[in-house]
Amino acid sequence: MVGDSLNKTGANLLIKALQENNINRMYGIVGIPVTDLARLAELRGMKYYGFRREDSAVNAAAATGYLTQKPGVALTVSAPGFLNGLTALAQATKNCFPLIMISGSSERHIIDLSQGDYEGLDQYNAAKPFCKKAYRVDRAEDMGLAVARAIRTAVSGRPGGVYLDIPADTIVQEDDADQSSLGVYKLVDPAPKQVPNDEAISRAVDLIKNAKKPLIILGKGAAYDRTEKQVQQLVAETNIPFLPMSMAKGLIPDDSPHSAAAARSLSLRNADVVIVIGARLNWMLSYGDAPQFNPHAKFVQLDIDATQFDSSQPISAPLQGDLKSILDKLVPALLATGYQAPEEWLEQIAQDTEKNDKKFAQRIANGKVAQNFGYYGAIAPIAEYFQQHPDTYLVSEGANTLDIGRDMIGMQLPRHRLDTGTWGVMGVGLGYAIAAAVETGKHVVALDGDSAFGFDGMEIETICRYKLPITVVIINNGGIYNGIGQVVPNQLGPTTLDPTARYDLMAKAFGGDNYFVSDYDEMKNVFARAVDSGRPNIINVQIAPSMGKESGHIGNLNPKLNLQPL
Ligand code: ADP
Ligand code: MG
Repeated sequence: MVGDSLNKTGANLLIKALQENNINRMYGIVGIPVTDLARLAELRGMKYYGFRREDSAVNAAAATGYLTQKPGVALTVSAPGFLNGLTALAQATKNCFPLIMISGSSERHIIDLSQGDYEGLDQYNAAKPFCKKAYRVDRAEDMGLAVARAIRTAVSGRPGGVYLDIPADTIVQEDDADQSSLGVYKLVDPAPKQVPNDEAISRAVDLIKNAKKPLIILGKGAAYDRTEKQVQQLVAETNIPFLPMSMAKGLIPDDSPHSAAAARSLSLRNADVVIVIGARLNWMLSYGDAPQFNPHAKFVQLDIDATQFDSSQPISAPLQGDLKSILDKLVPALLATGYQAPEEWLEQIAQDTEKNDKKFAQRIANGKVAQNFGYYGAIAPIAEYFQQHPDTYLVSEGANTLDIGRDMIGMQLPRHRLDTGTWGVMGVGLGYAIAAAVETGKHVVALDGDSAFGFDGMEIETICRYKLPITVVIINNGGIYNGIGQVVPNQLGPTTLDPTARYDLMAKAFGGDNYFVSDYDEMKNVFARAVDSGRPNIINVQIAPSMGKESGHIGNLNPKLNLQPL
């Protein structure tokens, strides 16, 4: 019987093993040798989403991992498909997002003798430096174990990307071992809890309870681990102010009186005890260095990965474990001391906040009526919408679009914002947006700069094909950073794109809706309608090409040359 022989193929075991572990979706692009594998996945009840570029499919799997704490799964063909996916696998690993990238490949003997296979590449070894771990399955009978290992590796400890190499031969090979369960099983406790010891907790409490100017920094690790309850309690009962990293926005609502976001510089510069929860003291936090940080600051750091401690600052109180377990011990221990953040410090932050909020509100008010339509006017309707509809997902990328949008759009719910992440990379937007729509069933806004959109714009076809409730907003200033980058008269300039491009028409081409706006009123009028429609659509927001600062808020990282003609 056909059904019977299918039952023991590597492909069938792979699908069974994923399903056994409640993984029921796959993002990918098919071709030799994985086409029938994807067909079989559909036949066995998995949902398969076909993309246009492999990196977008892998990005979707990564976002799935972040949003669900279960590894997302992406499928690619061999060599070029694999390599296209590899960038996203590396990004996900940097971001600590769990995912499994599965690629079809050539048989070992052909690769090892360099016989020159169709799309032949030693993918297994090529993947290793770019993921947490790579596995290769040469025998169908090992499939159940391989999938279990891949899942455990992706989600346990510091989460990350796993590469699973499946040779064409294994896909069709039949398991000839006599295993009643076919070697497929459900993992027991895939991400075991890791609880810090009491001594580490008291060390941290001793440090915090003497702090004059304490500050909490929340990172996307805290969002991933769903710590909202604990951090909200911690902040509410101790009054310690907090700063959310961009993807931790909403873990505690942005409009919380304890947010120090509007006094970011002042609070970092002055804090004497900094409690870092699921964030890294990397480039995004100036490595914890002065002058951005108080040179005498002491650090408490909570992280699953002990090698993260002392990466750029001495950590006075390292707390290793999963964040929930750490907070379950730390919060009650700290509350038992009756510690309260000193009034004076809160007053200092409150004053700075009030001053900055006023300036910011003025900038937005001006932006709404400015002659030259720019970022503030364009993004204001989005910020207003999110205030009223907090259960909408936001994905954002671009330079100025990302930076200004991050400051303007308040988040009220955890894990509702995905962005360029640890590498600050462009081209993640539509893959993330697709996963957010598929995994949550909610409406999604992908807020992109015109340049960022170019990296994965073809996925608008994917969005339309699956009729996903995604509104892609493209803030079009005709360039990377801006559209006025001409260097010499006879060339366009390396940062120049087409400021008159009608990106919105791409949605129309694939059956979605398209909108074009060029002032605040039009955007205000269109935005809510576009999102509420629940249909795929693009809003092309035409702003002036002169809008936009080079490198947005990270101009300090941009090496500048003295550009004079000879
Ligand atoms: P951000 O970019 O928001 O500052 P990072 O990605 O730099 O955040 O840091 C996230 C940190 O959270 C990483 O060091 C990672 O090891 C840690 N982390 C991720 N998941 C967990 C978890 N479940 N428990 C504890 N720490 C975690
Ligand atoms: Mg631009």
